[in-house]
Amino acid sequence: MKVVLLGAPGCGKGTQASKIAEEYNLPHISTGDIFRENISGKTELGLKVKAIIDSGNLCPDDVTCDLVKDRLSKPDCQNGYLLDGFPRNLVQARALEDFAKPDVVIDIDVDLDLIEKRITGRRSCPKCGGSFHIDFLSNDKMCPTCGGDLTIRKDDTPEVIKERLTVYKNSTAPLIDFYKSNGVLKVVDGNNTIDAVFEQIKKVLG
Ligand code: AMP
Repeated sequence: MKVVLLGAPGCGKGTQASKIAEEYNLPHISTGDIFRENISGKTELGLKVKAIIDSGNLCPDDVTCDLVKDRLSKPDCQNGYLLDGFPRNLVQARALEDFAKPDVVIDIDVDLDLIEKRITGRRSCPKCGGSFHIDFLSNDKMCPTCGGDLTIRKDDTPEVIKERLTVYKNSTAPLIDFYKSNGVLKVVDGNNTIDAVFEQIKKVLG
């Protein structure tokens, strides 16, 4: 099964992606995570995209498409994939049609007013990759999974969030119509608890 998760920044894509990957045994491919790993490892790619990511803009399409195409060619993607954060615009969506057309595209629909609160409360663990919200943490400094130090993503500041939302509205939201006309779009209501959203996703995926 080839699944794409769509949704605005902060809609809960990463959290749902981890749950789906576990339930359906699919490789969870997050382009944002891949870029961040490259930034931490100071690779050539990381150095190239750091300033772009810090500003809330999109990394170049050719670099991003090549990276995803290469990742999807790995043996663990033989039976499908779960893409989180790709495609982000029509150029990427058309490229994906050519190299690994998705079977289902799930749009996690959230009120854009809720987004800022969700993102500013977000904390991540660089050690295990976990992502949490301060509303659900008893200690907002320590990772509840592995005990690592929780950090705030550099692109989760109010100014950068504003830019990321503009990018979402202009470049990514048009994908909803693109996939609707392809007949593969399913919309779930993301203004809900993590478990309630996951239940809707399981109904969609069967
Ligand atoms: P995310 O973790 O998905 O919110 O992604 C964080 C940042 O990585 C984005 O704001 C972009 O700068 C970059 N990024 C992630 N996925 C893509 C993509 N498919 N195309 C271009 N840039 C991306």
